[in-house]
Amino acid sequence: SNIPKIVILGAGYGGVLTALRLQKQLNYNEADVTLVNKHDYHYITTHLHMPAAGTDSPENARVSISKLIDEFKIDFVKSTVVQIRPQDKKVILEDGTLSYDYLVIGVGGEPETFGIPGMVEHAMNIRSINSVRLIREHIHYQFAKYKREPHRTDYLTFVVGGAGFTGIEFIGELADRIPELCKEYDVDPQLVKIYNVEAAPTALPGFDPELVEYAMDVLKNKGVTFRIGTAIKECTADGVIVGEGEEIKSKTVIWTGGIRGNRLIEEAGFETMRGRVKVDEFLRAPGHENIYVIGDNSLMFNEEGRPYPPTAQIAMQQGVVCAQNLVGSIRNQPLKKFEFSNKGTVASLGKGEAIGIAFGKKYKGRVAAWLKKLIDLRYLFIIGGIPLVLRKGKIF
Ligand code: FAD
Repeated sequence: SNIPKIVILGAGYGGVLTALRLQKQLNYNEADVTLVNKHDYHYITTHLHMPAAGTDSPENARVSISKLIDEFKIDFVKSTVVQIRPQDKKVILEDGTLSYDYLVIGVGGEPETFGIPGMVEHAMNIRSINSVRLIREHIHYQFAKYKREPHRTDYLTFVVGGAGFTGIEFIGELADRIPELCKEYDVDPQLVKIYNVEAAPTALPGFDPELVEYAMDVLKNKGVTFRIGTAIKECTADGVIVGEGEEIKSKTVIWTGGIRGNRLIEEAGFETMRGRVKVDEFLRAPGHENIYVIGDNSLMFNEEGRPYPPTAQIAMQQGVVCAQNLVGSIRNQPLKKFEFSNKGTVASLGKGEAIGIAFGKKYKGRVAAWLKKLIDLRYLFIIGGIPLVLRKGKIF
């Protein structure tokens, strides 16, 4: 048929928003839309630090895709993309092939380890439902192992590499979780050590210094030891080597220190910077009028020429404009330029504590934690309406 085929790769923040908007804006038989995702669920990445630490269930961080999209309007394919072939307008899946007229790439980022030896082999990452299940079970297991070998305090030492938003949010939850685990396993809380190691001269680089100080104070009071301005030189089966060769013995290293684009994109022959495609103002890959790249896979610069950090916020906004431009292309209408509208940033520091900037103002403590909750609920509302808010939103 002559109906244009749109294929969306990845049902993350960018992909889901693109699909939802296309579903709304396209007329009957105007295009065939297919959404491909590794799992039959979408995960709420911004919530993953909680199930990773064990302060919430992984179930609360995922939503079944069939509950989000209208499968009469969008074909959902549960599969893993193994290759993108722009020259043939095809996508190779682990179990088949899809051809497209328009492609949207939103398969999300991958951990960047900056070549630190042992990091890939020995550290865990907060990336998906499966990865946080592993972290959560692993932490429990360390407590259980310690009970059998009480001289092994390294089982009770937890190292988080990176003090960006992910690292800070995770460590806040972990610090909340530790006292519960100590009770459960009859362990003296004094024996547990939580380290946050960050190479940059400050935690949350680039964020408001006053709020950063507040965040560090809150976390220090919860028992976190910061090693700021200290690089991890190597990760081993026994811990990490930091700074000038000091060893922190630990069986649990969680690496949150960097994120890059996806290898699939480099392998497809696109020009990338750390796996990200520098897209044009309409979100298209340079030289490919029919390929859009969104979310953590894309790279865009602000007026000062600095790259926007990869966030759920920008991915969602890109999804909206991407859908609009796909509809525009099909209808031969002019495309819309993407302009990021920064709604602010809030980072949680565990239960009832957060910091953030929104509406041009600084927030900390309970109010900021409230804001965080509001942002989470707003997202659930955008993708799934009131029913999803009621099902997954932790309103109280
Ligand atoms: P993702 O949301 O990562 O989705 C990618 C999708 O593609 C996934 O569903 C994945 O399963 C699928 N996929 C991957 N590879 C394949 C493949 N080969 N084949 C098929 N499917 C595939 N941002 C904020 O704005 N605010 C926050 O508070 C915030 N907190 C965060 C907290 C944590 C713990 C983390 C890890 C991130 C946080 N972020 C936050 C960043 C934000 O989550 C990401 O920027 C955002 O998820 C990027 O969206 P995306 O659509 O590019 O990709």
